[in-house]
Amino acid sequence: MSNGEKQLYIGCHLSSANGFLAMGRDALSIGANTFAFFTRNPRGGAAKPVKPDDAAALRALLQEHGFGKLVAHAPYTLNPCAANDKTRDFARLCLQEDLERMEYLPGNYYNFHPGSHVGQGMERGIERIIEVLNEVLSENQSTTVLLETMAGKGSEVGGRFEELAAIREGVRLSGHVGVCLDTCHISDGDYDLIGDFSGVLDEFDRVIGLEHLKALHINDSQNVRGAHKDRHARIGEGAIGLEAIVRVINEPRLRGLPCILETPQDDLAGYAKEIALLRSRYRG
Ligand code: FE
Ligand code: FE
Ligand code: ZN
Repeated sequence: MSNGEKQLYIGCHLSSANGFLAMGRDALSIGANTFAFFTRNPRGGAAKPVKPDDAAALRALLQEHGFGKLVAHAPYTLNPCAANDKTRDFARLCLQEDLERMEYLPGNYYNFHPGSHVGQGMERGIERIIEVLNEVLSENQSTTVLLETMAGKGSEVGGRFEELAAIREGVRLSGHVGVCLDTCHISDGDYDLIGDFSGVLDEFDRVIGLEHLKALHINDSQNVRGAHKDRHARIGEGAIGLEAIVRVINEPRLRGLPCILETPQDDLAGYAKEIALLRSRYRG
């Protein structure tokens, strides 16, 4: 991180199937200097134990190559505001375990979808998420947990900045809670990313506080603004378009935040191309 301001930190989701160090090598091979990974199977299930030597080797690689912060991702099945007790128990357990595992890579980010309240109402959903976070966060953790901005599909919590602000404000250790902004999701959520991104950030600042924005998910969307669908597209191949994405990565107020691509690709070469494209459009 020696170049500070001038760096674009960009990467994509990588498979953790071959361990931590393998992800660092994959990242280097595609020109990435940050990345995301699922802490376990994205559909849930047990987590593989971390090998301390593997984690140490990745930490050395990240430092040597000046990586930005990593943005781990919780499984999609995690729903801390489910009505069902068992589903909420899984969310609590999963968050707890994942946060313990994240301490092998201290000081990074752990992003999760706030959840779906399925019929309980937004207010109750938010209360339940706060309850779970108050149980799993600990004073001395080094990881910042990120709430992802959502597309507002179905009964999803987090489609409006106000909902994320309410969660943060309810959490006792709110200093450990930030936000990850997903470009596909906020456009689908009816924020004017294409026409007035600066105004969207003003609103984010007013409602949540820009100092709490810690990471970006950089995706195009298969659908128009306000569609509430959450179907990602490759950069420049969706309704958002390349130029709006280029404005996001060059926004002075977002300097230094890790940018994670979650575009549908067949292989790492697809991500390497997008990373090269966005680097070529970065003005430093
Ligand atoms: Fe996500
Ligand atoms: Fe995302
Ligand atoms: Zn999405």
